[in-house]
Amino acid sequence: MDRNKKIVDNILNLVGETPMVRLHKITKDFPGNYYAKIEAFNPGHSSKDRIALHIVENAEKKGLLKPGDTIVETTSGNTGFSLAMISLVKGYKCILAVSDKSSQDKIDILKTMGAEVHVCPADVAADDARSYYETAKRIHKQTPNSIYINQYFNELNIEAHYQTTGPEIWEQTNGKVTHVVVASGTGGTISGTGRFLKEQNPNIRVLGVDAIGSVIKKYHETRELDETEITPYKIEGLGKNLIPTSTDFDVVDVYEKVSDKDAAFKARDLVKAEGIFAGYTSGAVVQATEQYAAKNFFTEENNVVLIFPDHGSRYMNKIYSDIWMKEQGFL
Ligand code: PMP
Repeated sequence: MDRNKKIVDNILNLVGETPMVRLHKITKDFPGNYYAKIEAFNPGHSSKDRIALHIVENAEKKGLLKPGDTIVETTSGNTGFSLAMISLVKGYKCILAVSDKSSQDKIDILKTMGAEVHVCPADVAADDARSYYETAKRIHKQTPNSIYINQYFNELNIEAHYQTTGPEIWEQTNGKVTHVVVASGTGGTISGTGRFLKEQNPNIRVLGVDAIGSVIKKYHETRELDETEITPYKIEGLGKNLIPTSTDFDVVDVYEKVSDKDAAFKARDLVKAEGIFAGYTSGAVVQATEQYAAKNFFTEENNVVLIFPDHGSRYMNKIYSDIWMKEQGFL
């Protein structure tokens, strides 16, 4: 890629244009060709750089953000890292409300990246004043010249992937892509990517990945939020206990749900099979691909693109720790 052969002005110029790599061993038993789009090549090591930068630059264009202003969000994960990085480069203050379930490691990373972190109790209802949602809203209201990113309910989340991830996949596969397999959290990636690709070729199938314990798959099938679907689960960033407006359910053809255990082992298998050290949801995407293959979704002529959302290094105390795996009863 041209960009990587010259000097760029700052780290944010490296967001997007992530590479695509052919998969060999991990998909050898399924018909067709398989490719991974590796979002860990973003400077913040995840797909969330794309939406964070898009939403911030949109606010700048609208005159809602100028240097010294404040960015507020509820996240301990990848979006927090991306926003903190962007804030450092562009000169904003970054305030993140995180749940006390977040590991100390993650909180330390966000602080290292210059963010102000408010740790909130996880075991209270979302509408409780102490929850991280309410805390973020309150900070936003009380802080003059601040914006609230609100990634689960922000249409710009979809637009970021419509403008970047979708076109990149189309170009990288020379328009030959037949299926994409995409993890659904906020739904921005699957909706934006899927919408763009279906506009190029309506025959492209958009295959979603959801977590056992989440309401997303059932909502896609019934358009009703079934609270009996909600159970605790470990995979971070996949599925949800609410319906995000940043998911366009009409773009998705079908969802598969994966278990914590299967996704964890698949992430570990992926490292050994391909040398690709990716995160927990990448394991979930490979696992879902296997489940789709078992249901005969693919033929020899197909070109299937799997999106791997982030890097494995963020999961050293989870799926890549034998101690954690034993604690879960997986090993
Ligand atoms: N995997 C990881 C690790 C994530 O952080 C996210 C974002 N929540 C996703 C997958 C899902 O992406 P999206 O929010 O665009 O649906």
